[in-house]
Amino acid sequence: MSEIIPLHPVNAAGACGDLDVQVERGQRAVFCGLTGIIWLHRKIQDAFFLVVGSRTCAHLIQSAAGVMIFAEPRFGTAIIDERDLAGLADANEELDRVVGELLARRKDIKLLFLVGSCPSEVIKLDLSRAAQRLSRLHQPQVRVLNYSGSGIETTFTQGEDACLASLVPELPTSHETQPRLMVVGSLADVVEDQMRGLFKAIGIEHVDFFPPRRSTALPEVGPATRFLLAQPFLADTTRALQARGAHHVPALFPLGVEGTTQWLQAAATAWGIAPQHVLDVTQAPRQRAQQALTRHRALLNERSVFFFPDSQLEIPLARFLHRELGMQLTEVGTPYLHRQHLAAELALLPSGTRVTEGQHVDPQLDRCLHLGPDLVVCGLGLANPLEAKGLTTKWAIELVFTPIQGYEQAGDLAGLFSRPLHRRLKLVA
Ligand code: SF4
Repeated sequence: MSEIIPLHPVNAAGACGDLDVQVERGQRAVFCGLTGIIWLHRKIQDAFFLVVGSRTCAHLIQSAAGVMIFAEPRFGTAIIDERDLAGLADANEELDRVVGELLARRKDIKLLFLVGSCPSEVIKLDLSRAAQRLSRLHQPQVRVLNYSGSGIETTFTQGEDACLASLVPELPTSHETQPRLMVVGSLADVVEDQMRGLFKAIGIEHVDFFPPRRSTALPEVGPATRFLLAQPFLADTTRALQARGAHHVPALFPLGVEGTTQWLQAAATAWGIAPQHVLDVTQAPRQRAQQALTRHRALLNERSVFFFPDSQLEIPLARFLHRELGMQLTEVGTPYLHRQHLAAELALLPSGTRVTEGQHVDPQLDRCLHLGPDLVVCGLGLANPLEAKGLTTKWAIELVFTPIQGYEQAGDLAGLFSRPLHRRLKLVA
């Protein structure tokens, strides 16, 4: 958990349509990018994530992932101890030894990520050079890459962005002239299969998903690549793909019926397919999703929600909760506001919505307590104190661990917000 206390917190107002956007630079309460390993190691099934960090880093991912391990884990921590920190030991030698032992024991690993942390950055361990050295040593069996999951000035979903951005230079170059669609951002396998079926029904046959399930099946990229973002927190990955010639297709994010439909329609339009055709071929799943939302709307309609900045999913979630479930937005906090990627989302928030970018946690807590919303979406560290004050909370991190994209998951997504309220109502009844 990182907690950053700047000497001079500032508040700055910013224009974003008719929204009330405030920028805060104060103390933050967020998880670091190491957390991304929990869902990334399940997605890329032949990858191993070796955190080069301290016992604190090891505790973080073990406690976050502990309940989810169902097979031999594909992540671990190479512990930097006091001797390394004091410069008494050669950390590179130690790292080479640990990696050698790991790869000798685990022949299933085809891609190894060295994941930087606060301690590895403090001792200025150059993991990029280490990855190059270890790649030379272990290729062609294993490719070694590196990225930073450090908690300094980040939030936890940035771990995925940094990981995918490090993988982009490894994508083979495409010389195709026919456009090819790439969906960018980790999706649960079940969601990926559903999306592939929907694209096929729309008439887009060739769809690649990045990251892929196996590192040996990296999709090609080139000027004919058109990519849709499945997650809103992939700014560096987007830049890296654009540098390889790929073109971003702007869209809403596939959360809820409206988001999923417009996401599919954006791809269809880029392929010269009429938006009405998307409505025709998605009629059945759209109706199922609408029905699934109905019973949650009965509970959530007119209830108020407050978002603390955490997952970077806050803006698309606020749009979904307001437009499809009738919730009132009291404040929508987000760690970073990527105005370009979120332009379509921001345009659908109600006029005057208070959006905060960054955090200054104490005044934000005061605002939340003063408003007394029906539901608070926040990080784990804030949830218990807020519950103790009588507020109902939803852990933001669950929204990243749970399959929530697409039509078939719309009801589950709404359920993540209605369940805590339902529980609270039963307790007070
Ligand atoms: S990377 Fe930094 S913030 Fe994250 S667990 Fe390690 S020491 Fe803590």
